[in-house]
Amino acid sequence: MITLLFGPPGSGKGTQASVVASRFGIPHVSTGEILRSEVAAGTALGKEAAPIMASGHLVPDELMVRIIESRLMQPDAQSGALLDGYPRTRAQAQALDEMLARGGRPVDVVVALDVPEEALRRRILRRAELEGRSDDSADAFTIRMRRYLADTEPVLDHYTGRGVRLAHVDGIGDIDTVTRRIADVLDKVDMGKTP
Ligand code: ADP
Repeated sequence: MITLLFGPPGSGKGTQASVVASRFGIPHVSTGEILRSEVAAGTALGKEAAPIMASGHLVPDELMVRIIESRLMQPDAQSGALLDGYPRTRAQAQALDEMLARGGRPVDVVVALDVPEEALRRRILRRAELEGRSDDSADAFTIRMRRYLADTEPVLDHYTGRGVRLAHVDGIGDIDTVTRRIADVLDKVDMGKTP
């Protein structure tokens, strides 16, 4: 099952994706984490991505398409994956659709975590104190939020336009509560797929 998890910066997308993926026994594919590990390892890709990420802007599509293609070709992703942070633009979505179509696989469901902007800003500024992520400053948050609304939210329409099921999930609540809401959606999709 291919699941796409969407959510604005600070929505808890990464936390939820990791818990939900292990519960469903599929790999959690986070492009943000892949990029952060490239940055930490000091690779050429990491050096190119680091300043872009720190500013809150998006890494160029062609780089991201290459990253996701090589990740989804790994053996562990053949039975499915939970994608967190990809696709973030319509061009990335088109590239993903084409790649999955080549393997005869559809996107099964799109889950969008909804959290109001004020709550997001508070969470990000608190996380900045705890984790020191380079893109958790007030300025970078504003840009990430703008990019999410301008570039990433339209990707939801891309999928509903193609008849893919979209579920909005309330992202306010404790971690377990939100996990249960997402798992309920995926359970229903899983049941629908069982003949
Ligand atoms: P968040 O969703 O909280 O902003 P992520 O960990 O998903 O955090 O992403 C962090 C940063 O990594 C993004 O702001 C962006 O610069 C870069 N990034 C991650 N995924 C993509 C992608 N699919 N396309 C372009 N840039 C990306």
